[in-house]
Amino acid sequence: MEQQVGLARGYTRSHRLYELGGIILGVSAGGALALRLSSTENLSGWWVPLALFLGLLGADLTSGLVHWACDTWGSLRTPVLGKLAIRTFREHHVDPMAITRHDFVETNGHNIALSVLPSLVGLCRLEHRTLASTVVAMSLLSMALFVGLTSQIHKWAHQTEPPMVVRWLQDARLILAPRHHDEHHVAPYDRNYCITTGWLNGPLRAVRFFETAERLISRFTRAKPRCPASD
Ligand SMILES: [Zn+2]
Ligand SMILES: [Zn+2]
Repeated sequence: MEQQVGLARGYTRSHRLYELGGIILGVSAGGALALRLSSTENLSGWWVPLALFLGLLGADLTSGLVHWACDTWGSLRTPVLGKLAIRTFREHHVDPMAITRHDFVETNGHNIALSVLPSLVGLCRLEHRTLASTVVAMSLLSMALFVGLTSQIHKWAHQTEPPMVVRWLQDARLILAPRHHDEHHVAPYDRNYCITTGWLNGPLRAVRFFETAERLISRFTRAKPRCPASD
């Protein structure tokens, strides 16, 4: 309980300001990319659903990589990232239901801030006026959208009574399903890191992606994965 309170107290005023700034930047960058795309020629064709699907996969992979990195490496004392990101993930393991009590800004600030990156890359790609650039930019817009939605989707997976349409999307496995995500919340928290749709958890486990990455990082840095949440 003490640890839970300590971790929750790490949510400071400056952290909230960072989240508010991230939301403004994320929505602006995503909006600018959508606007630029809408004025592009050849904005239709067989490639549109494929580009949107690839963006969704990109968001699921990003959620897995970020989640794995913050669960596995560093501690609350890690410069910048300790307070900015790692604390949130460690709090989530100590008190998984805390996320359901977070308001819109605390739930989504981080991820909407992160969505700035694919949106900016998409805007840069549109400088080249080719069909390939439009396809890539469309994928990046989809990726930005779903990266921005990931924390909300994760929150829904923890809610006992999410909205009906959300329950339907979860049951259809179109977004992260609670039962699938529950497997992550078992110590040592080393399964099912992807939390947008969870589609990539099976393939990544099959190729032992995270285990291999951990072995390589430990070999070269001598860092030990998964230090205690209190660190
Ligand atoms: Zn986790
Ligand atoms: Zn969770």
